[in-house]
Amino acid sequence: MSANYHVAEGDQNALGQYLVARTTSCSIDRRPQLKIACIHCGTEYVAAEVNFHNCKCPACQGGNGHHLI
Ligand SMILES: [Zn+2]
Repeated sequence: MSANYHVAEGDQNALGQYLVARTTSCSIDRRPQLKIACIHCGTEYVAAEVNFHNCKCPACQGGNGHHLI
């Protein structure tokens, strides 16, 4: 998964998802994760192995595969 190389903290995608921070998972594989906030409803969630530009809010846009904080 390499779609997020050009994504930086503070970026916002076309769906109103704001990148709060880039992190890595606590598990042994150290997968990259994105901490994302939705500007529409304020939900913050962590997404792993997603394309940030296509990322949807799990609370108000029907996104899936994310872990709500
Ligand atoms: Zn939302």
